[in-house]
Amino acid sequence: MTESSRPTRVLVLNSGSSSVKYQLLDMADSSRLAVGLVERIGEKTSRLVHTPLAGGPDGAGKRERTGPIADHTAALRAVADELARDGLGLDSPELAAIGHRVVHGGLKFSEPTVVDDAVCAEIERLVPVAPLHNPANLTGIRTARELRPDLPQVAVFDTAFHTTMPEHAARYAIDIETADAHRIRRYGFHGTSHAYVSRKTAELLGKDPADVNVIVLHLGNGASASAVAGGRCVDTSMGLTPLEGLVMGTRSGDIDPAVTFHLERVAGMSTDEIDELLNKKSGLVGLCGDNDMREIRRRVDEGDPRAALAFDIYIHRLRKYIGAYTAVLGRVDAVAFTAGVGENAAAVREAAVAGLEALGLAVDAERNAVRSDEPRIVSPDSAGTVVAVVPTDEELEIAAQTFALVGGDRSGGEDRARAGRADDA
Ligand code: AMP
Repeated sequence: MTESSRPTRVLVLNSGSSSVKYQLLDMADSSRLAVGLVERIGEKTSRLVHTPLAGGPDGAGKRERTGPIADHTAALRAVADELARDGLGLDSPELAAIGHRVVHGGLKFSEPTVVDDAVCAEIERLVPVAPLHNPANLTGIRTARELRPDLPQVAVFDTAFHTTMPEHAARYAIDIETADAHRIRRYGFHGTSHAYVSRKTAELLGKDPADVNVIVLHLGNGASASAVAGGRCVDTSMGLTPLEGLVMGTRSGDIDPAVTFHLERVAGMSTDEIDELLNKKSGLVGLCGDNDMREIRRRVDEGDPRAALAFDIYIHRLRKYIGAYTAVLGRVDAVAFTAGVGENAAAVREAAVAGLEALGLAVDAERNAVRSDEPRIVSPDSAGTVVAVVPTDEELEIAAQTFALVGGDRSGGEDRARAGRADDA
């Protein structure tokens, strides 16, 4: 193929246990051509929502269908059919590669990797440390390879950005032989987002990422903080699994491990019940019954004491991590808020840095109240450290890394892509 007719499209797949989210991007200008979601795979009420965006970012042509979709193979076939209806089928010569989000890459995968049988086997070997995520990711990869065996498939790992963590940050202080025998260490997650946001924050500051120290606060339903020194992650709040660290929508975050022994010995709970308690029934939902920050803020404003306590616990933990990562980094150039809560909840940003002027941190009330999809500074010009809101874009980052690996150029027009961003459901 000539340079001008080289394929530039990348399909990004995020396969969960009962869902597949997807986006088709054209890396010639980083525009989105289609986004969609299949959910409740394996149930009678499976649902596919597909939005073609080639005609514009408004999602006017959104299509939805419900009915049984038996498994991931059927789901991907349904996605391929929808894309084909828009002239964007998987058999298109313009498709350069498929990029897969893979949650756990262990220590082995520090870079995006072209998938072959050996890579699939290694992702499978990591299932014991990511039992909820890696099997679904792998099913998505295998299905996509069946559908397009000739096309490069690239795995982009959530853990990859954190593999630069020094041993003293990555290791737990437990018996070292036991830890190594069972690959117990802190891996960290949301790495694609932390990488993207830390780089974008440097751009916002007009600096080279190598010259900037950033604390990234990825606050979505899952939440994690990272300390990024000169473009390299030196610490992050999630650990062996995404349970450690900040208070999240349904996860407890940091907890004394002896709580689990207590629940087993005194409360008579099984390991599975404790797992469920800490991962699904804790965090904000455990504390006040809601995990949506909008609802919690509404309740706080109405004077609801349980919502206020949940909010205070959430903020207290967040502030502890800001303080800890300030100490880890020594010099902090910026604190960047991202993901659903970080990008939208001005009250969380304000509370997270309130009274931290001694650390150079403050928000300007007017700037903090602005709603926008663009990266922006919300601290006053006088503050020693920049506080920024930097919208994350994991799909674009996965597509860019995938495209770069299969011989494309990743520099094409990330910013223009934002104009075409749309929710995938
Ligand atoms: P994510 O996991 O990044 O999609 O973030 C999802 C979370 O973002 C939801 O659970 C909400 O709590 C939160 N969120 C979304 N929009 C807003 C908003 N306008 N204000 C406060 N929180 C929001």
